[in-house]
Amino acid sequence: MTDFILDLATLKPSLDRVEIEAPAREVELPASEWRGLVRASLRVEKSGSRVSVRGTVASSATLECVRCLNEFELTVEAPLTIFADQSGRSDRREEAELERDDYMLFHDGRRLDLRESVRELLLLELPITPHCREDCPGLCPSCGADLSVGPCGCTA
Ligand SMILES: [Zn+2]
Ligand SMILES: [Zn+2]
Repeated sequence: MTDFILDLATLKPSLDRVEIEAPAREVELPASEWRGLVRASLRVEKSGSRVSVRGTVASSATLECVRCLNEFELTVEAPLTIFADQSGRSDRREEAELERDDYMLFHDGRRLDLRESVRELLLLELPITPHCREDCPGLCPSCGADLSVGPCGCTA
């Protein structure tokens, strides 16, 4: 499959394995940071109108190191668990609450849209203060040279 909107009719009746590979823009991640593909390896179980999706999503993000300001690529992988049911079985306010508090999704009986969940999962994996590596020495406070390249000659 090439997108993150599951077509429920094409899934095998009880359990199906779904591999998805799509450009990051497909899940509306900014292409400046997310330059590669988003991959998902999922087990999808259907039982009546209920659908459960379990697996992992992975991609890589290009981030700027907070110490040396160099760009680096971070591989991001996150477990995904989604429970979905057909909409219209409870009232809409209740559905909105379930979506927010219990990470429950609703589908229209034909398609289950995973894009928002996948996007949020990947964004949550990004560090608040990205480091190109754990011990990045950063920039020299006096001359601004990149100390990961080598000593700059200042004696700090
Ligand atoms: Zn760095
Ligand atoms: Zn220096």
